[in-house]
Amino acid sequence: MAVPFLDIRIQDEQTRSQIVSVLTELVQKTNFIGGPEVEGFTKEFGDYCGGRCVTVANGTDALILALRALGIGAGDEVITVPFTFIATAEAISNVGATARFVDIDPKTYNIDVSKLAAAINPKTKAIMPVHLFGQVADMDPILKIAREKNLKVIEDACQAHGGEYRGKRAGSFGDAACFSFYPTKNLGGLGDGGAIIVQSPELGAKIAQLADHGRLDRYRHAVEGVNSRLDAFQAAGLRVKLRQLPARNERRRKIADAYNKGLSGLSFVTTPTVPSHIVPVWHLYSVESPHRDALMEHLKAKGIGCGVYYPIPLHLQPAYARLGLKQGAFPVSERASERILALPMFPEMTDAQVDEVIAAVKSFPPPR
Ligand SMILES: *Cc1c(COP(=O)(O)O)cnc(C)c1O
Repeated sequence: MAVPFLDIRIQDEQTRSQIVSVLTELVQKTNFIGGPEVEGFTKEFGDYCGGRCVTVANGTDALILALRALGIGAGDEVITVPFTFIATAEAISNVGATARFVDIDPKTYNIDVSKLAAAINPKTKAIMPVHLFGQVADMDPILKIAREKNLKVIEDACQAHGGEYRGKRAGSFGDAACFSFYPTKNLGGLGDGGAIIVQSPELGAKIAQLADHGRLDRYRHAVEGVNSRLDAFQAAGLRVKLRQLPARNERRRKIADAYNKGLSGLSFVTTPTVPSHIVPVWHLYSVESPHRDALMEHLKAKGIGCGVYYPIPLHLQPAYARLGLKQGAFPVSERASERILALPMFPEMTDAQVDEVIAAVKSFPPPR
């Protein structure tokens, strides 16, 4: 039996028909931009995360608009990690600022807070931790340093919808937190979508204004902004799917538990570490292996989907050659990129499929 890495089909008949019926209604009303579905989703997602929500066109825009609204631009530095999707750093460059990388913790793959202080200089304006793979970064020390040094905190929560840290949800920690509703995310839309969660109503209003051409009213503009909207179709689909997010995240945790148990004690793979104060949402489930490439070939030959997130840390990407960072600059990120392997993880996976993946990993003959 082949097991796909990911299957985003909506397999539940009832959910599918709910989505189709609300989309049909929007078509009949020609309600494509704004309206009650967008307003409803915005309110509901804000309540879910524990803040005020501004919806935008995608997760990358969410990061860019949060940075811009916080006044970060040319000459400023923003601290983030090199072990993430490029959008995190792209957003920083897009507002004219520079990404200052800090290496990750080898166990959680999130920013190593012990290396944070050394990266701060007079140009530093913000810290942008990434909640990678659905585990919230170590927010208490990050917030403490940010308070002491008067820095903004922007969570890249694009992989952590519903993830918890000391009983609070991703999105409720920073000045702003950014989410993506790209179809493969834990809360995925029917296309692109994004949101920013803020605690301050003033900041929320500023982001909303920037996302809507800097409008004061229809044809008066306070500043130049952009067009970045979550459309009504996306909002309608996301509203239906948000109701199922808690159960879907719970199913991901069940699958991760089964993997952790089934793969424990193997000499050639290390299962993920989750600190006890974190409730992860397993956007991805990644193991580490010194024989990663051979293991990947072995799994693929058995029809098991798997993937590498991320094979090249950002500081070694051609896109960041201008930063002049060489191999060895962030050894923990580099080592992770050589050893990490993501196994199939999606809520619709059956127990039999999970067992199949475990059996396939166990049957790997580790090279000597
Ligand atoms: C998906 C993702 C983004 C960008 O989201 P888009 O909606 O695709 O623009 C940013 N950061 C991280 C860590 C992501 O996983």
